[in-house]
Amino acid sequence: MTVKSHILVVDDDTALLRALPQALYLQMKQVEVDTSDSALQALEQIQKHDYDTIVSDIKMPGMDGLALLAKIRELRPETPTLLITGHGEHNLAIEALRGGAYDLIQKPIDREYLVAALHRAIITYQLRRKVHEQQMALELHNRSLEQLVQTRTQELVGANAAKDRFLSIVSHELKTPLTSLKGRTQLLRRQLSSSDTKQDVTEVFSKGLTSMERSIARMEMLVNDLLDSSLIETNMLVLNRKRCDLVELCRNFLDEYTAGAGPTLSFNYPGKPIEVEVDYNRIGQVLLNLLSNARKYSPQGSPITLTLQQSGHEALLLVRDMGIGIAPDKLDSIFEPCYRVPPTIEEQKNSPSGLGLGLYISRKIVERHGGHINVQSLPDHGSVFTVALPLFVDPDAIQDSDAPPIPHTQAVWTIIY
Ligand code: ADP
Repeated sequence: MTVKSHILVVDDDTALLRALPQALYLQMKQVEVDTSDSALQALEQIQKHDYDTIVSDIKMPGMDGLALLAKIRELRPETPTLLITGHGEHNLAIEALRGGAYDLIQKPIDREYLVAALHRAIITYQLRRKVHEQQMALELHNRSLEQLVQTRTQELVGANAAKDRFLSIVSHELKTPLTSLKGRTQLLRRQLSSSDTKQDVTEVFSKGLTSMERSIARMEMLVNDLLDSSLIETNMLVLNRKRCDLVELCRNFLDEYTAGAGPTLSFNYPGKPIEVEVDYNRIGQVLLNLLSNARKYSPQGSPITLTLQQSGHEALLLVRDMGIGIAPDKLDSIFEPCYRVPPTIEEQKNSPSGLGLGLYISRKIVERHGGHINVQSLPDHGSVFTVALPLFVDPDAIQDSDAPPIPHTQAVWTIIY
């Protein structure tokens, strides 16, 4: 659909004002002509409408065509203005061109010349308008690009600051066991040189080694967390998935976890295995992380339970504690990397804080298995972390029947420190 061109004709000669539009309607397609018998009235119309071209007589009572042209240049600098001059009015014509007139139409008006001049003017205006629109679009695009660059820069600055914060936490956390290790070694050497009997030496060694092993274990845990998070960030975490029984997996890890002079462990397992296809050690790592958090954030003597359930096509592993719980506004953040709810002084004394990577690594491991992890918690009442993993699906069994798998029995362990 072609758009109508809108033209304004200004002339105090009312006969011409009637005749000219008729002539233009006859010779031009898709044109709409407005008229005005004075420059002042024309100005009002120009303010309201964005005309494609304006044709005005140069000589008019009151405001003349040249004054009108000057006003149009202010109001609508892109609109071409054609001025009608009388025969021999050379000086006026020169003034009109200097004032920015697009073209001159000589009286008596040659209609064909007028129509051709109008066509040129309209095309010029439409091209100018298009250029203007494209300029606007470019400016808009430019602005949105600038905005994007600004946002990205802010993100990078934020990420950089987070990395700096993280590095400072890592160095601080690694320094603590390292300092303890160094101190203990120096003490050991001093004590060794001052001990006389064999029994003394054995006791000194035994105490020193226990403390050193604790520091080494802590450093090992921190370094492992760092390595795991780097594997995840670089997309290099490889899962070695094998079909196994989740009950068996939990039992093995729990036995190891509670071995020695550890907590009391009670077990209620009516019987059936829960088959999953997982990386045995990685899921064990998730379990141990949840158990050690449950212990870290619970008072001594309060029970921690591990429950295994089957719900639909998922195996659910629930770790429940009755500890300090988590504030509702922190629940969404605890699975983010490096997020730690700041511990109280008392909590800090009881157990050293981690890097805030444990739950992040656990979430990523579970998600890589096609599962999900979530938490429900109430401050001062405790928390339940639920890991959902897809059950192993036997392709032959699927062909045999489409019925949902029969629910398996649960297994429940209770640990008390
Ligand atoms: P961290 O190694 O610092 O414990 P995690 O990623 O394991 O890091 O946990 C993140 C935060 O979630 C912890 O700082 C702690 O505040 C909170 N949190 C995790 N588990 C529990 C829990 N069982 N009870 C209360 N708070 C918990």
